[in-house]
Amino acid sequence: MDSAWQSAARLAAFEYVSKRSNAGELPVSWDELKSFHFDGLHIPLIGARGIWKPQVLDLPISIATKAPVVGVEPPYPDEVTPDGRLLYRYEGTDPNLWTNVRLRKAMNDGLPVLYLRGVVAGLYHTEAGLIVEDDPSSLTFTLLTSPLEAIESGLPWEMSEASRRYYTRTVKQRVDQQAFRHAVLHAYRTRCAVCSLRHGELLDAAHIIPFSDGGETTVPNGLSMCKIHHAAFDANILGVRPDLELEVREDILEEVDGPMLRHGLQEMHGRTLITPSKPDLRPAIEALEYRYERFVDA
Ligand SMILES: [Zn+2]
Repeated sequence: MDSAWQSAARLAAFEYVSKRSNAGELPVSWDELKSFHFDGLHIPLIGARGIWKPQVLDLPISIATKAPVVGVEPPYPDEVTPDGRLLYRYEGTDPNLWTNVRLRKAMNDGLPVLYLRGVVAGLYHTEAGLIVEDDPSSLTFTLLTSPLEAIESGLPWEMSEASRRYYTRTVKQRVDQQAFRHAVLHAYRTRCAVCSLRHGELLDAAHIIPFSDGGETTVPNGLSMCKIHHAAFDANILGVRPDLELEVREDILEEVDGPMLRHGLQEMHGRTLITPSKPDLRPAIEALEYRYERFVDA
């Protein structure tokens, strides 16, 4: 396949993933990434290797990281630099391994790749990535990421240094927050932990220890909550005791008002928080204690 075909296939792959992910808002499944077709040809966008080159393409189309497993160090820990660039480890320790060589070629040709970050098994957060540096001494590529749709509007990488700095500062936070939301909602089977509402569009991942207090963006520090319960939790109207019993603030309990107050809030008092069945996904007890103290003091 000639280079014009290769470029068209690459662009079509980005458009496909952009649509599937609602421009990066939703995670994309392994199956969806596997089932991309272009021009009558099957072009899987993910495979057995982190640096993935489909058979019909000359150069890699994606680089992927596996979903973290609680308590297990990932084989290739990816990091974010202070200016928001992502570090992606070589495959293995040989700079001349063919996958590393092909990814270097993609860098030299200025070709974007899909950056697929595993959030939970089989689900990926997606962005567009451009390799901008290669450091054989630390076996690391440096990746600049961009929202997928920017690829279609042309050359997102050619922004001014100032806007690039501004943009890259937010990268780590954005990637982490989205991954956090996907992972928490998945752990709670897309249900509100308070009222068990099952509509993903109405659910948030709430931090138990707030992000501003240094709370981690990990599932044990998260609760899947509908918008109203998330807001009530953050406003200390609704508290979660460390033994998982829900408490509604006293003055709110005594108030008389319509059905939202009665059913939505007052009836939650005394209920038990719904938690994931897997022990390592349940809310961390220290985090609940920390937050409950805040609720009592408020
Ligand atoms: Zn709720």
